[in-house]
Amino acid sequence: MAKLLTPSEYVRGILSGDRLLLARAITLVESTLPAHRALAQEVMRQVLPHTGRSARIGITGVPGVGKSTFIEAFGAHLLQGGPERRLAVLTIDPTSRISGGSILGDKTRMDALARHSRAFIRPSPAGLSLGGVAARTREAMLLCEAAGFDWIVVETVGVGQSETAVHDMCDLFMLLLLPGAGDELQGIKRGIVEMADLVAVNKADGPNAEPARLAAQHYRSALHFFPKKENDWAPEVLTCSALDRTGLEEVWSVVQRYLALARSNGSFDERRARQRRQWFTESLLNGLHDWFFALPHIRKRLGEMETAVAEGSVSPFWAAEELLQKTVFDR
Ligand code: GDP
Repeated sequence: MAKLLTPSEYVRGILSGDRLLLARAITLVESTLPAHRALAQEVMRQVLPHTGRSARIGITGVPGVGKSTFIEAFGAHLLQGGPERRLAVLTIDPTSRISGGSILGDKTRMDALARHSRAFIRPSPAGLSLGGVAARTREAMLLCEAAGFDWIVVETVGVGQSETAVHDMCDLFMLLLLPGAGDELQGIKRGIVEMADLVAVNKADGPNAEPARLAAQHYRSALHFFPKKENDWAPEVLTCSALDRTGLEEVWSVVQRYLALARSNGSFDERRARQRRQWFTESLLNGLHDWFFALPHIRKRLGEMETAVAEGSVSPFWAAEELLQKTVFDR
């Protein structure tokens, strides 16, 4: 990591829209070293009043559905719409932990967007659990907002629990689908379609145009059977081609309609308030987890207990209770 700065140096840089300092602040936030965490917390505390003024869009879909192609095309469309618009793209990729390399993380993704002066792209931090990635991504999102990015796209692959994590940090959740393949083939888990505010069947071009239209029809009628969302929004299903850049205007107009409705009926603020409460609870649980496993007398006993539990000589429940008791008594 580059040399550490003082909190106010980071904050001044971020608030002035300095992308290099923004990137360095995100790296700081991703660090797990206690000294870095303390500095990161102070930076977060100072930028907090400058956050929140953005629209946060979550995008998911199986690898190969065209997420990066779509974000590149959609991003270009969005940025063309006004010289004041700025877009940050963050990714949540649970595979970056497992493989070191990741499904989302190769450098060639979103080339044009990466070079755009009003765009900022940041891949997932590697080496963290999904909970850790999600927590760091939320903080990165807030830092981007403080740096003046008024559109945030959070992208994830349809594996693990990452869709839920992204859904829980966005104002609008969008699902990209392939034409002509059933849910199972696409690896779409039950419940993901239900979470979507907007579904787009991508690759609606060439011979796939008709299958895409049929798939959209199928999902449109399927979505009818779900209970209406609490914010009164009826999810929309569209087709588009990220490659040919068609259907993007329609996607954009649904996004705007959704945001206008959510802002006018109060559901936008309610969803954010709910998410902040949830982040608080999760941070608390993560903190408890880390604290517990870092306690020296727990670390000392943990190995013995694991062995005893594996051998069957003590019950797992008794062993857990025993260690939990030890956090308070009998050090
Ligand atoms: P991701 O893994 O979801 O990010 O998918 P990519 O954006 O990397 O796209 C996977 C492949 O699908 C690439 O070869 C793209 O060129 C192709 N692709 C993406 N969008 C479209 C589209 O709208 N139409 C067609 N025909 N191909 C597409």
